[in-house]
Order: sequence, then C-alpha cells, then structure tokens
Amino acid sequence: MSRKVLISGAGIAGLTAGLWLKRQGFEPVIVEQASAPLKGGFLVSLSDKAYQYAGELGVLSAMQERNMGITSSSYHNKNETTLLALDYQKLFENVDVLQIMRDDVVDVLYQTARDKMEIRFNDSIEIISNQTGAVEVGFTSGLQEKYDLAVIAEGPNSSTRPLLFPDSVTIDYLDLYCAAFRLPNVLNLENKFETHMQKGRYMAIFNTLEGDLGSVFIWSSDARKMPPKDEQTQTLLAGFDNAGTVIGRVLEHCPDQPHYMDILKQVKAEDWVVGRTVILGDAAHCMTLFSGRGAGAAITGASRLAESLKLQRDIPKALLSYEAANRPIIDPIQRQTRKAVRWYAPQNNLDWLLRDNAMRFLPNWLFQQYFNRKYSNV
Ligand SMILES: Cc1cc2nc3c(=O)[nH]c(=O)nc-3n(C[C@H](O)[C@H](O)[C@H](O)COP(=O)(O)OP(=O)(O)OC[C@H]3O[C@@H](n4cnc5c(N)ncnc54)[C@H](O)[C@@H]3O)c2cc1C
Repeated sequence: MSRKVLISGAGIAGLTAGLWLKRQGFEPVIVEQASAPLKGGFLVSLSDKAYQYAGELGVLSAMQERNMGITSSSYHNKNETTLLALDYQKLFENVDVLQIMRDDVVDVLYQTARDKMEIRFNDSIEIISNQTGAVEVGFTSGLQEKYDLAVIAEGPNSSTRPLLFPDSVTIDYLDLYCAAFRLPNVLNLENKFETHMQKGRYMAIFNTLEGDLGSVFIWSSDARKMPPKDEQTQTLLAGFDNAGTVIGRVLEHCPDQPHYMDILKQVKAEDWVVGRTVILGDAAHCMTLFSGRGAGAAITGASRLAESLKLQRDIPKALLSYEAANRPIIDPIQRQTRKAVRWYAPQNNLDWLLRDNAMRFLPNWLFQQYFNRKYSNV
C-alpha cells in the first residue's frame, strides 16, 4: 500500500517534494492556504545542483523556455553614475544557471504536478500531532486526516512551524522591507538588469519575456508587522520619497497593492524534524533574496529529502538523515548571506561609502569571480 504524505504549501519546495515523492510511490496531498498558486514574485536564479535536479525531475526544458535571457547588469548611484557594469556571459561562465521569474518556476511545477496528485486550495493545518506510526492533522476546513509523513513547506511565515517547534526557532529580522511589482517597460530596457542604489534602499529592475518590467524595492524599516494590504503602496512610496528620476518614474506605475511584499527575515531553526514531520525550504531556513539561492535551496532540499526517503524506509530516520545531509550546506550560506546584507543595503554612511567606492574602483574580475562562485554551490 502506498504511503500517504501531506505537503503543506504549494510553493517551489512543496511542489518539488510532491513530484519526487509521487515518483517514489508515495501518495502526496498538497494543501495550500491561498486560492491558487501564489503569484507576484521577482526574478530567481536556479543553478548548479538545483539545475541538475530540475533536469532529473523532467521540468528543466519547460523552465529553460522561460529563461529571461538577460545579457548584462549595471549598478547606479543616486546621480545615475554607473558604479559597476557586468557581462552575464562572463559572470556565469562554466555555471549552469537559469534566470527565471519565480511565478514561472511555480507555474511549471504546478502544471507538472496538478494531474498527478491532489492539490487542495483554501485549506491549511490547524492542529498537528505526531503519533506512533502516523501524523494526525486537523484542517481549517474541518477535515481530520492521518498521514505517514508531513512536509511543512509554508515559507518564512509558516503558521504550522510554531505548532511543531514552539521554542526552537529564531526569526532574525533584517530591518528591511521588500516589495515587487510589474509595470510597462517605461525605461526601454533590453535584456538588461539594472540596480539603482541609495543609502538604506535600492531598486532593481529588468525587462521580462512578456515585454514588461519586473521591479523589486528594498528599504530600511524596523517594522515587525506587515501593513494592511491597502496601506502597502503608501508604505513603499514613503520609503522611496525623493529617490530621483528613474525610481520615481517606476513608482508612478505602482499598483494599488504591490504584487509581493514582505518584511525580510532569516529563519533559524534548531531542528527541522520532529517524529514524522519535517520543515522544508524557507519554512526551515529562509536565507532571504540576498542569498540569490532561496528557490534553488527549495529545489535541492526537496530533492535531497526524497533521496533520503528512497534510501531509508523508516520515515523518522530518513528525515533525520536528510537534515544531517542538508544542514551543512545551508547553514554556511545563511551565515554568509547575513553578512552580505551590509553590502546590499548599507545602513550607515561609512558602509555606504565603502560599498559604492568598492563597486566603482575594484577590478571587474573580482565581481565576476564572486558571482561565479556564488552560483556554484547549491
Ligand atoms: C508571492 C511570493 C513572491 C516571492 N518573490 C520572490 C522574489 O521575487 N525573489 C526571491 O528571491 N524570492 C521570492 N520569494 C521567495 C522564494 O520563492 C523562496 O525563497 C523560495 O522559493 C522558497 O520556496 P518555499 O516553497 O520554501 O516558500 P514560498 O515560496 O514562500 O512558498 C510557500 C507556500 O506555502 C503557502 N503557505 C503559507 N502558509 C501556509 C499555510 N499555513 N498552509 C498552507 N499553505 C501555506 C504559501 O501561500 C506559498 O504558496 C517569493 C515568495 C512568495 C510566496
């Protein structure tokens, strides 16, 4: 009899886990609290192991069709002086990498998974308990079910995680907001990624395959609670007052609510496993977009979890061996990313000056080398 697995969250980690586990003979049920796969993200990179696993899972060619084809990237200060220009061909020399909209990754995975397993929208876990030989779950819909295994892939703001690990998860706030939205190509960009950097805030922008622009904004804030939906645009505009012509032109096209907005935070969990339950992807180890590897880590994590369950039939043991194998890869990236925040969003004048001058005067090959290494180990 096939073993039943509950996956909570139809994001990149949850859908990837569903596809692998279905292939291995499990019977997955995915439960997603939203009414459809969540949309609204920016650009993500899939490289190295994530790229290989996508190939093994049979989803790589569909993702390659949606590769953004960006050829260059440049960084500018408030006066529009170019601090640094990078050639993507050199940047990713000898690295397998896809630059793709988060929405497209989710869409490819969802289209591949939807006929293979039950995906239940508008539902979420209310009660969960590990019993001998099963996980018992009560849902907000009123359903009560038993599973052999539960995978919690609910992203950084997971509501099931505190039910499982009430005391052993720390949220490290980066004191930054992040918002993203799409707009017409008012900057006439062509295969180009631009970053406009100012003290304590920046905007990154690029043209998409659909011919519009994808934009993301990062700015300082000590908020610990998200503003209500109808105040998010106002919060974004307030964070970028007097930001100059280019950012100003983009913000003129901000919709009533940004397509995505969150408070940036790293999730540090002492344990990923309890009994027959495991937290996966950003729910376990959100690194933030500064890592450039959140989506990749979601794919590799889900793939490694499936590998452990293939090698070890005993579910609690398999989950622990997954954690033992994946943690040494993830923890250092999370630490490096935390340090890199100072570089991406300097909070004081000295850091800001150092960063801008480093970008302006350090030799280009140093940056090529940095990015090349960055995308070579997830
Ligand atoms: C809308 C959106 C936009 C994003 N945009 C970017 C981006 O532009 N750049 C970037 O680098 N990263 C972005 N991310 C984060 C990036 O997708 C993740 O770092 C990475 O893909 C890890 O994926 P994940 O599946 O672990 O988590 P997520 O992608 O966060 O997916 C979690 C899923 O679980 C669902 N969920 C949450 N709580 C529950 C619950 N209680 N019950 C059931 N379902 C639940 C969510 O609705 C979501 O579908 C975005 C995430 C989201 C949700």
